[in-house]
Amino acid sequence: MRTPIIAGNWKMFKTVGEATAFIQEVKGKAEVDGVESVICAPYTSLPALIQAVKDTTLKVGAQNLHWEDGGAFTGEISGAMLKDLGVDYVIIGHSERRAYFAETDENVNKKVHAAFKHGLLPIVCVGESLEEREAGKTKDVCRVQTEAALQGLSAEQAAQVVVAYEPIWAIGTGKTSTAEDAADVIGYIRERISAVFGGEVAGKVRIQYGGSVKPNNIREFMQKEDIDGALVGGASLEPASYVQLVEGAR
Ligand code: PGA
Repeated sequence: MRTPIIAGNWKMFKTVGEATAFIQEVKGKAEVDGVESVICAPYTSLPALIQAVKDTTLKVGAQNLHWEDGGAFTGEISGAMLKDLGVDYVIIGHSERRAYFAETDENVNKKVHAAFKHGLLPIVCVGESLEEREAGKTKDVCRVQTEAALQGLSAEQAAQVVVAYEPIWAIGTGKTSTAEDAADVIGYIRERISAVFGGEVAGKVRIQYGGSVKPNNIREFMQKEDIDGALVGGASLEPASYVQLVEGAR
């Protein structure tokens, strides 16, 4: 049995005050038995968030990390620094980072290894562009990105990875994949993980859907056996909406 995971990706939103006010609002309500609930926030809010979720079951994630432990990398943050704060999860390879910050499959893989080195759990994002989808390359793109991201992991590590399948054309657009299509691609990703790491590992890996998930469509996705939760941008920013997403994943 895989525990469903709802992860809010706040992207570049919320001041420290707004972040802590959000936790006060969702405390208790976004804590639902059998669902893991994670807020992935900008670095600046992480210390206050970690303080605010103490004595709750809510978890905190970052949205990126550098693969080195330290060094002359102006503006970067290492896994060691995140772990020191008490961060649990880190989003790696989000399509916005791939598109705007030149993140490659190779860098994603280094970051995944760095996350495990420092005891952080990676949420690895994969997904096709509209052009790739129209060219019939959706599964190929997801296979290449997933295999590259997980390359060199032990079976024990691979089993703990969370994969977020996010078709790029569905992110922030209000368009979603159908639950059927999402489940089909996610099933395929699981098959590929099985081919590399074996069925036992593949059966443990949690694979989320992401891209315009809202309180009114979360249940459609969650009804699919292979879909283990969602990575949610826009709809994770409002407390009431976030609570409904977590409830919808039950
Ligand atoms: P969205 O973003 O829910 O606003 O489409 C999803 C994401 O970028 O992870």
